[in-house]
Amino acid sequence: MYSRIHASVIWGIEGQPVEIETNILRGLPNHIIVGLPSTIVKESKERIKSALKSSGIRYPDDRIIQNLYPANLKKDGSHLDLAMAMGIYVCIVKESYKIVETFAFIGELTLEGGILPIQGVLSLLEGLKTSGVKRVVLPHENYLEASFVKGLDIYPYERLDTLIRDIESNSLKVGSKLVSYEVKERKFDKDFSEVIGQKQAIRAAEIAIAGTHNLLIIGPPGCGKSMIAQRLETIMPKITLEEKIELTKIYSVSEEESPKGLIQYRPFRSPHHTISRIGLVGGGSAILPGEISKAHNGILYLDEVGEFKSDAIEALREPLSSGSVNLSRGGRSLNYPSRFALIATMNPCPCGHYLSKEDLCTCSHYEVKRYIGKLSWPILDRIDMTLFMDRVENSEISNASNQKVSSLEIRGNIQKAITFRQNRVMEAKHEKSTKESNGILDDNILYGLDEGARSIAIKYHSKGKLSMRSLGKLVGIARTIADLACSEHVEKNHLLEAYSYLTNQQMSNFFT
Ligand SMILES: [Zn+2]
Repeated sequence: MYSRIHASVIWGIEGQPVEIETNILRGLPNHIIVGLPSTIVKESKERIKSALKSSGIRYPDDRIIQNLYPANLKKDGSHLDLAMAMGIYVCIVKESYKIVETFAFIGELTLEGGILPIQGVLSLLEGLKTSGVKRVVLPHENYLEASFVKGLDIYPYERLDTLIRDIESNSLKVGSKLVSYEVKERKFDKDFSEVIGQKQAIRAAEIAIAGTHNLLIIGPPGCGKSMIAQRLETIMPKITLEEKIELTKIYSVSEEESPKGLIQYRPFRSPHHTISRIGLVGGGSAILPGEISKAHNGILYLDEVGEFKSDAIEALREPLSSGSVNLSRGGRSLNYPSRFALIATMNPCPCGHYLSKEDLCTCSHYEVKRYIGKLSWPILDRIDMTLFMDRVENSEISNASNQKVSSLEIRGNIQKAITFRQNRVMEAKHEKSTKESNGILDDNILYGLDEGARSIAIKYHSKGKLSMRSLGKLVGIARTIADLACSEHVEKNHLLEAYSYLTNQQMSNFFT
């Protein structure tokens, strides 16, 4: 007897459909699995045998051959248990095959026939969609997460014996429609209203988050740069369903941080400066996603960026330009998304007081250059905005109480700007940039600038102050500022404000 069962496997964060072919032949009792199974898949033999027996199935004393198709794709993960068990089951109970063959199965089995939850359900289901299967049996505990995938009927089961009973009575139970549940507004133990003064820094933060621009904050110790950076997660805009699914797929791959359901909030990742290159960008023998992919659709915060290992920082070049990272090892190569706002802080020099109004810097010019030079030009070139922060002056402290702005207000502004941008882009039929931030530009660099802004941009460029690339960044930041002002066009004042944050322009302080 022969059977063919639908399942899927994960490649990176993408699911790929596979089929399990089963043949039971006369011969000495044996179970052979072919088609590039990993050790975990090979070990499934014992679980399958025991689970089927516990579910009342008479396990054959024959030669069982299972082929995992396509043969050239490596199959990993215990989630193939259920499909492999179903393949054997329908070879024994032949009448069930016509029902079972219209389903796909994913789930791990326990020895006594329990169906255990698995990692990476969203990716596995996305993969199944391409195979044309419409109905999927999966572990009950994965149902909540699975119900977000459109276009598939999900049949959640907790036990193999119940599943077999329902197959035999042709009464498989599709999961009940979930009552749409409200995601609670996130509570934070910190707020921008606690920051005294530093209006310009708060403004820069607002622009950076609204447009996903990378931001470097340079300032003396104790000026409050970390205080600003740590509050950035309180002003991140709402996350869309597509973004949640994409993010959940990434986290599902990593064992320690695998989520129970769908991830509900944008990530804020702040790795320690001792992190390795692999920890930061991903890789290793299993090619797992790193911090940059876990920060996808959110923020990657690098406190004292000059202290990080230089090979780790240099590895950020590709993802900062492309929004994704390519990792390869042993002939395998994977691509993980990693579009995040990089927020980095650093001291301006070894003593920390270079450019400070209050304290005197005791470093030599060479020392200052060397210190800031820890960030290479290719990296600086990918950081759109740079801000110099100094300590708050006394006059600022005294009238600060009536100028406080809360995280809620800033978040509101950002949300409004994003909605404005989406409408603007839709109207302009510039669909390409809807999902993308202003940090990554169209070819048509001066699109949307009014006459005044246009003439300044051209003037800067022709005077050699700005390369084409910097000009693109300048317009991108200015566009975000215009969106925050709900302005159709980028005006002169938007462009001038953007210019004051431009990394290349700010960095000239160090290299003149
Ligand atoms: Zn110094």
